[in-house]
Parts: sequence; structure tokens; C-alpha cells
Amino acid sequence: MKIPNNPQTNTLLELSKQCVFCGLCSQYCPTYGYFQDENESPRGRISLIQGLASGQLQADATLAQSLDHCLGCQTCERICPSQVQFGQIMTLARPLYIDKLDKPWLNRQIVQQLKSHSPGKTQKLAKLIKLARKALPKYLFQNIDKLESNSKAAQTTYLKQRTNAEKINIFTGCAQSVFDQQAISDTNNILQSLGYEPVINPEQSCCGALALRQDDQTNLQHCNSHNQKLLIDPKITTTVFLTSACGARLRQQFEHQFPQHQIIDLSTFLLSRNIAINFKALKQRVLLHTPCSQKALPFQTTTSELIGSIPGITLIPITSSCCGAGGSHQLDYPDMSQAIGNQLIDQIIDAQANILLTSNIGCFTHLQSLLNKRGVKIQVMNPVTLIRQQLIEENYDSAPTIHFG
Ligand code: SF4
Ligand code: SF4
Repeated sequence: MKIPNNPQTNTLLELSKQCVFCGLCSQYCPTYGYFQDENESPRGRISLIQGLASGQLQADATLAQSLDHCLGCQTCERICPSQVQFGQIMTLARPLYIDKLDKPWLNRQIVQQLKSHSPGKTQKLAKLIKLARKALPKYLFQNIDKLESNSKAAQTTYLKQRTNAEKINIFTGCAQSVFDQQAISDTNNILQSLGYEPVINPEQSCCGALALRQDDQTNLQHCNSHNQKLLIDPKITTTVFLTSACGARLRQQFEHQFPQHQIIDLSTFLLSRNIAINFKALKQRVLLHTPCSQKALPFQTTTSELIGSIPGITLIPITSSCCGAGGSHQLDYPDMSQAIGNQLIDQIIDAQANILLTSNIGCFTHLQSLLNKRGVKIQVMNPVTLIRQQLIEENYDSAPTIHFG
């Protein structure tokens, strides 16, 4: 048997040696919970990867799918006592099996369009997804009729120019700009109302997470070189993102290259600037979901701190494992994705809330679709939409003041 010997496989073998195969992680792994198959657990995946990297195993479609089922939730990495770098192992292993995956043409087209997305192409992408509706899992895209009108309406509200105001980039993202333009529009309005000049650079692209996940180096380079343009202007020192997976990816790619540039979410931005914010009261039960990608960010509590300061609110954090959305898993593995998501939906229903907040667009569309499917009436929104909704009018058109709270 041919044994690969190159720097990448050698690094893989070194990294995977950290695993002592204790199996502690398996009980936390959502795909293992669903399949009850060792090859679908973190330990099993590391073992398959060791086999591939050492040349003892050859990749085939079954092996590739077991590895591709991984949701990338990083739960295993967070709980591993041996500090195995599971995410890094998966990233390095992808070239060893990715060509054995055979996903439907339509799924590949949609993901391809998302990966090469720019703000000017939002309506084109919405049109493609609408055209594809008959071939896609029915539980998805139940709000599909609103896609094009949403993108048209929200785009007209962007980019009012102000003079002498500090410029703040808004990173719009690919799926975010198709499925929840409302949150982009709300971020834009909040920043303007507090005296900043929001900038939506038309050259920005997808964050690159989808390309990285598919080991698509061409698109990854495209995303990185376009998004670098957001950070290179020394007059703009902050980029606000709306989707935690985009934020995690941008920070991973750029924080060492541009250490002076802050890449943060809106709640963290508002708190870090000590901006005085007055909220209208909201006497409702509001659930706050923490996406897996949010758990990788250094600012864990800013959203709950800000939203929790709304008078009268009952804010309930949902402590859960992955919702099952996992990049394009909603499209590629709908049965698994729904089954994993439904465990979280049960918790959401039990909590009897009026609003569900989540700051990751994959979780947003997945949970919204599953709630619709179960006939549950609960509003799903990005936290920025609730912030915008509850800001009282005097915050609008006023300059930033000096304290929060
Ligand atoms: S990844 Fe960590 S927790 Fe899982 S089997 Fe290996 S050493 Fe144990
Ligand atoms: S990243 Fe998540 S889905 Fe993948 S092996 Fe680890 S726990 Fe399982």
C-alpha cells in the first residue's frame, strides 16, 4: 500500500497522535447521537483520518460521507481533556477525501453561488434559490416568496452619507444577505442613528467558511483577497458582522494581519463604545440561542448583557449542542440535520417564549424552518433586529454619548 509522505500528512499524523481514544467526546457529538456509529464520532473520524494519512485506508464514498457528516460544531474540541485540535485535523484532512463526495448538482450550484457572493449579486442568488425550490427539501425555504422583495427593499436603505462621522464596515455575508436582509438593514439604521457612517463595501465577498469546508482553495483565495479590502483602509478600524460563523472566520483569517482592526458583533461594538442606549420595555419571554460558532468568539456575554438590559424582558439562554444546520448540511443531509435540530426545537417549545434570537444565519434559517414545519408561532430574529425594534426614538439622529446602561 502506498504511504503518503508529505508535510500535510505528517502534520495530520502528529496532530491526531494527541488523541488517546478515550471516547469521552462521543456522547457530546450530535452525529454520533444520530447514527450511533463509531465512524460518525470524533474518535472514529480521527481514526479514519489516521488511516488515510498513513496510507492504510483508501478514501471511498462511504468513508468520505462519514467525515463530511461532521457538523463542525467543535463540541468535541471544547470538551477534549487531551486538547486535540479536531477542527485543524478536519481542515487538513479534507484534500484526502473531498473528491469522493458526490453531492447533487443543484446543491453544488447554490453553494458555489454563495461562496462567490458579493452584495451586488443578492437578488440573482435569491432568484436561483427560488427557481430551485421544487428540488430542495420542502421544510427549507418556507419563506422563500419573500426572498427577492426582502433583498430589494433593504438594499435601498443603505449608505446614507454623513460628514465627519466615524465609518464602520458592515460585513453582510452570503447567506445572511439573502435570507435575513432585515438584520443588515437594522444594523445600518442603528449605526446611523447613533451618529456613525455605516459602510457596505461592494467588493466584500462570502467570509470563506463554505470554501474552507470544501477545501475549495480557489474560492477561498477569492474571498480572502476581497475581504482584505475591508480591513486595509486605515480610516476604518471596525468591522461589524451579523453572523457568528462569518465573524469567527474573518477573525481567524485576519486578526494577526490587521491587529488594530476590530472585527466584532454589534452588541460588543455598542458596549465597547459606552454608548447610552434607551430601550422601550418589552414584557415578553425571549430565548437567546448561542450558535456553535459564537462559542468560538472571545465575547460571549455582550449580547445577553445588552438585550438583558431591555426593561421588562425575560431573557432565557438556551444551553444546547449544535442545532444541526452545519454549513450546507440543511441542503446536503436534510434528514440528519432535521433530526438533530428537532431536539433543540423541543426545548424551544417547552420554554414557551415569544421570540427566539440567534446570531448565526445557518441556525436562523434552520430553526425557523423547523418551527414552521411544527406549526409553532415564535418569531425568529437576529439580536440586532430586537435591538432596533426596542430602541426608543430619541436615540435616532443623536450623537453617541458616553455611557451605556
Ligand atoms: S478527541 Fe479527545 S475526548 Fe475524543 S477520544 Fe480523542 S482524546 Fe478522547
Ligand atoms: S465537530 Fe461536532 S459533529 Fe464533528 S465530530 Fe466534533 S462533536 Fe461531532
